[in-house]
Amino acid sequence: MRSANSILNPEQRTSAIDALESEEFDILVIGGGVTGAGIALDAATRGLKVALVESQDFAAGTSSRSSKLIHGGLRYLEQYDFKLVREALHERELMVTTQAPHLVKPLSFLYPLHSKVRERTYVGAGIFLYDLLRGLQRALPNHKHLSHKMVQAAAPCLNSKIVLGGIEYFDAQVDDARHTMMILRTAGLYGATLANRTRVESLIREGERVVGAQVTDLASGKRVKVRSRSVIMAAGVWSNELHEHFGITPHYSVRMSKGVHIVVPRSAIDSRVGMILKTALSVLFVIPWTEDKWIIGTTDTDYTGDRTNPKADAADVDYIINEVNKVLAKPISRADLLGVFAGLRPLVSSEKSSATTKVSREHIVDHPVPGFVSIAGGKYTTYRVMAKDAVDESVRDLNKKVPESITRTIPILGADGFHALVNSADRLAEELGLTSHEVLRLLNRYGSEIFEFKAIIAADPTLGRALATGSDYLGVEIAYAASHEGAMSISDVLLRRTRIFFESGDYGLSLTGRVAEIIGPILGWDEDAKGASIREYEDLVQAERQAILV
Ligand SMILES: Cc1cc2nc3c(=O)[nH]c(=O)nc-3n(C[C@H](O)[C@H](O)[C@H](O)COP(=O)(O)OP(=O)(O)OC[C@H]3O[C@@H](n4cnc5c(N)ncnc54)[C@H](O)[C@@H]3O)c2cc1C
Repeated sequence: MRSANSILNPEQRTSAIDALESEEFDILVIGGGVTGAGIALDAATRGLKVALVESQDFAAGTSSRSSKLIHGGLRYLEQYDFKLVREALHERELMVTTQAPHLVKPLSFLYPLHSKVRERTYVGAGIFLYDLLRGLQRALPNHKHLSHKMVQAAAPCLNSKIVLGGIEYFDAQVDDARHTMMILRTAGLYGATLANRTRVESLIREGERVVGAQVTDLASGKRVKVRSRSVIMAAGVWSNELHEHFGITPHYSVRMSKGVHIVVPRSAIDSRVGMILKTALSVLFVIPWTEDKWIIGTTDTDYTGDRTNPKADAADVDYIINEVNKVLAKPISRADLLGVFAGLRPLVSSEKSSATTKVSREHIVDHPVPGFVSIAGGKYTTYRVMAKDAVDESVRDLNKKVPESITRTIPILGADGFHALVNSADRLAEELGLTSHEVLRLLNRYGSEIFEFKAIIAADPTLGRALATGSDYLGVEIAYAASHEGAMSISDVLLRRTRIFFESGDYGLSLTGRVAEIIGPILGWDEDAKGASIREYEDLVQAERQAILV
């Protein structure tokens, strides 16, 4: 049972808005971050009729702004939170092996040691336990101890006078915004109705019971009443605001904490491995990104400003540079910056104990009134478990027998045959008229969806070429973002379907004209619409640039 809902484009969106108006759903999900996406997939694969609405672009909230690590969280071991670490490691193994091998990639990290014996014993025991907590599933290699000399060979950038040894261990990495969008497309494959730029304005009630929501299609201004037997809110840092707006008294609240990352060229830091550095309050990651960049972060500061556009400021950037310079032989500086991005952690705290509130170490599922469940907190890595918890709670309102969650066995779109396709890269390259290197890069972003590119390139061979000289992105990726991945603006393409915004050094400003030229016809734009989307992106970049100067 394949559904056309897995191809996100203007036609699919129009029929989604029609369906929202005319059909009745079992579950309506508010929020298209990774939590909402996971809920839509969980519900759809249990055979439920589910719709999801997202007020911005898919993953435009926290789910495009994380450290992009699929990890157990080494630092939670210090808090003795073994259950959380084990659960996250289990999810990591699942994603790397069967669920999303095309998107979630193993990555090695070095934990530098500053003393010869004591620290090695303590940290070594922690990392040993980290590897042990995986249980019997072991897709990633075990950790290994490195001598002073081995550390110098692995990471010549480190100051050898203060870094005296190290331990190398494995975690995994994902492009969060792409992964969230692919979970949504998978939910679409199993019949979920998906609409971005569609905002929930209010809930529809019958007595105390929630029976749907009033939504606005922000592209056309059209208001639609969506009938649904239950609603699940997965609105992250928007939760407090929406609870208040909906007149619902929850049993928890969400605090916002800002986390910033900087991006620098690989040449600025000479290392073959990523690094995890201990700071006074937490840890700092130096994470390999694509073939030639590092992402470094993060910060952790209380935040009360605009939720939609959190920005890094000068103090955030300086903090990260100072922390990483503490171990580097050759310091980095602001001159090395290619880009910066900021995100907001939704940190939950339970206010009252309640029979309807299920509190785990990191996420909360709340069921304050019949027909309405909300979920917040947690981490990207455990999205699938969070989604299952939320749907389990919500089905209690449906008064029918609903199957157990089966997402453990559901591969994300593009995962099928991934390893076989990698082995056939040379043949695919010939078929698509691309180089083997280009094909491998595309397989690691699209998996088996790469076959969709053939027709697009055949229709316009210029799309088989680089977007611009020196760019890794091909024109076909930009077209596909609008024709299959739900991108509706230049910002969607440059910030989330690609990462040109923080990878390019000029925020991709020189590419906006070419991007508009490619996506304009797919989105039905005239010259005015092209100009408006370019200006919207330029304004966004201007505001980001301004913020890191002050
Ligand atoms: C700096 C940082 C680093 C992190 N690093 C990691 C990491 O490496 N690994 C890890 O596992 N986790 C990490 N996390 C945590 C992880 O990113 C989050 O837990 C996760 O992305 C939260 O997803 P979410 O779907 O709950 O929220 P969001 O992604 O914010 O989604 C909520 C959505 O609701 C939408 N919405 C709001 N109001 C409405 C409305 N009225 N109608 C419709 N839609 C609405 C919003 O637009 C938004 O898209 C990190 C977080 C931060 C901030």
